[in-house]
Amino acid sequence: MAGEVLVVAEQVNSQVANVTLELLGEGKKLARKLGSPLSCFVIGHNMEAAVDAVIKAGAEKVYLADHAELAEYKTLHYRRVILDELSSWATPPHTLLMGSTTTGRDLAPRIAAFFETGLTADTIELDIGPYEHTSGIDQTKIGYFPECLYASRPSFGESLKARILGPWKDPQMATIRPGVFAKPEMLTEKPEGVEIKKVAINFQPSDYRITIKETLREIEGKIDITAADVIVAGGYGLGSADGVNLLKDLAACFENSVVGASRKIVDLGWMTYPYQVGQTGKTVRPKIYIACGISGALQHRVGMQKSELIIAINRDPDAPIFSFADQGIVGDVYHVIPEMIKQLQEKNTSKLAELKVK
Ligand SMILES: Cc1cc2nc3c(=O)[nH]c(=O)nc-3n(C[C@H](O)[C@H](O)[C@H](O)COP(=O)(O)OP(=O)(O)OC[C@H]3O[C@@H](n4cnc5c(N)ncnc54)[C@H](O)[C@@H]3O)c2cc1C
Repeated sequence: MAGEVLVVAEQVNSQVANVTLELLGEGKKLARKLGSPLSCFVIGHNMEAAVDAVIKAGAEKVYLADHAELAEYKTLHYRRVILDELSSWATPPHTLLMGSTTTGRDLAPRIAAFFETGLTADTIELDIGPYEHTSGIDQTKIGYFPECLYASRPSFGESLKARILGPWKDPQMATIRPGVFAKPEMLTEKPEGVEIKKVAINFQPSDYRITIKETLREIEGKIDITAADVIVAGGYGLGSADGVNLLKDLAACFENSVVGASRKIVDLGWMTYPYQVGQTGKTVRPKIYIACGISGALQHRVGMQKSELIIAINRDPDAPIFSFADQGIVGDVYHVIPEMIKQLQEKNTSKLAELKVK
């Protein structure tokens, strides 16, 4: 049997990060394909509620490192507890997943380097499948691998989606951006029989080379577009920064709504970076995503393609966005958006289904 599918949890103030729950949901699918258990490594202090949450999200085994020194993320301390534990296993995990967050980007490469294994960063899709390596300079790599981690991410100048495999050594590792996968349905009760293993903690003097003086978490006025139900996003088709007001007017027709932006208009200074959706911006999955004057480049698409309903407004009928939007309106944003606002206001509704855009 293949090794475990292991999710390394992230926490802030002892609360599990959403990305961890998302990875447990996706990790479960991989574990079922492999016939392996889904496990979760929980590190922090006073982690009872966090352990509860990861079990309710699907973890079948938990490795727990609970220590006052681990309350805040510290690179060397976290690395120590993970590697001490994993290097004692007879069989390493088959798959190891972490969020593509500041913590994940710092910690995952250290784990990969220790195991001399590969790591696919910023993955947007995961799967398990076979692979046959038939040629290459290194003859030791030739062979048939029935159970590889397929980790896909935009690549090659960001214009292609590349599937990256590294079946030669376990753990096969990937980091995944928050919001890429849906959170699993949480169990209401903790299932019986989930093993919680308390891992040994043996910090070394060298782990104290870095000290945390202060943690600043909240930035005043910080915008979080990922929490909105409706995103009205604008692109270069708005023509100028003034067009952003049109987006705001349309967004105002909906509850829990926000405006968003393509990178092109962020680069132009029409909107600021916290509003950017896409590969180098935020990954969002609102109930409704209205893309106004956005062409639908892959780098934008990967950040919003999991939205429940995508509506695209573009004057070019051949714009790539129409190939994956659920509803498309071919027209000028300066005609279509005011018409949508008018009808939404007249009908006193926020239901797009009731609109007719001529
Ligand atoms: C490494 C890398 C990372 C990137 N990361 C991101 C990212 O995170 N997010 C992102 O968005 N992009 C990203 N990009 C950029 C991306 O490749 C595209 O260049 C960008 O998304 C295009 O933005 P756009 O759709 O606003 O502009 P354009 O591609 O110029 O599209 C404008 C669209 O508006 C339409 N239009 C024009 N006038 C009107 C009108 N009056 N009414 C209606 N429609 C109109 C046009 O037909 C066109 O389809 C990245 C690129 C690279 C190389």
